[in-house]
Amino acid sequence: IREQQQAYLDRPGCSADGIRLEIAANIAHSVEAAPAFANGAEAVGLFRTEMLYMDRSHAPSEEELYNIYCQALEHADGRTIIVRTMDIGGDKPVEYLKIPAENNPFLGYRAVRIYQEFLSLFHTQLRSILRASAHGALKIMVPMISSMEEILWVKDQLAEVKQKLRSEQVPFNEKIQLGIMLEVPSVMFIIDQCCEEIDFFSIGSNDLTQYLLAVDRDNAKVTKHYNSLNPAFLRALDYAVQMVHRQGKWIGLCGELGAKGSVLPLLVGMGLDELSMSAPSIPATKARLAQLDTKACRQLLNKAMNCRTSLEVEHLLAQFRMTQQ
Ligand code: PEP
Ligand code: MG
Repeated sequence: IREQQQAYLDRPGCSADGIRLEIAANIAHSVEAAPAFANGAEAVGLFRTEMLYMDRSHAPSEEELYNIYCQALEHADGRTIIVRTMDIGGDKPVEYLKIPAENNPFLGYRAVRIYQEFLSLFHTQLRSILRASAHGALKIMVPMISSMEEILWVKDQLAEVKQKLRSEQVPFNEKIQLGIMLEVPSVMFIIDQCCEEIDFFSIGSNDLTQYLLAVDRDNAKVTKHYNSLNPAFLRALDYAVQMVHRQGKWIGLCGELGAKGSVLPLLVGMGLDELSMSAPSIPATKARLAQLDTKACRQLLNKAMNCRTSLEVEHLLAQFRMTQQ
């Protein structure tokens, strides 16, 4: 089996009927970039930058961040890296920010919600990403967006930082793309408006599952309710992909769901532009994808969305697997 997967390593992700689906890697540090690309990643769909801020006594400097992004770009060799701005606060505490503990960290003060208070931290990160964008294909992505106000505010900040760099004659990619995580359900209902303001979306299935189904992703007591095969969740994902594509924009998925082999036919049926996952899952995903017919996957997804329970969806997937062997 390993040998079979090896054969797909250097090939672009593609279904049996020749439809492209980019298979990318999630990384949390530039040192993970080289092994990710060696594993067949076609891009980095999610660079989680929060680790760069955690377990230390002070925030990283602009220079430090700039060097880290540049290192990652060196390994990328022309391939795209989506840098997600810091997703800290809440359940990812950073001591030096002195954010008080909260009863509901997942519903609390985290990610884009803390940027206004820690403005210089956010500007420093934007500056470092912009400066690195002069050396390769970087994109910026903002986590936990829940409203248009936040998008407009982020765009204002980005414009301000860009203007400052211009005035200092520091080079950067003027056309750098800005995207958002689709992980708070409210965004699902303003996709048309978001498409007028931003370039791309990436579905954070980990958080979208927890927020859509109101289930704490870390609470063992409720894991049986944390089910991404819930037909309501599948309908939500499909709706999002269709809405984004109707506006001609790009949408990937970067939650753990992308690496779940059994669910792959459903994701293929949705017609996503990219699946981003932990690097070790890439070879098997590419090999599985090569066996799948997108029209059969679409039919399967339609059936799954008409199921009434997650268990029915599970049975449907099991049946589908049998027909594939
Ligand atoms: C997600 O929510 O699915 C995601 C990719 O982000 P994180 O797991 O870092 O919250
Ligand atoms: Mg998330």
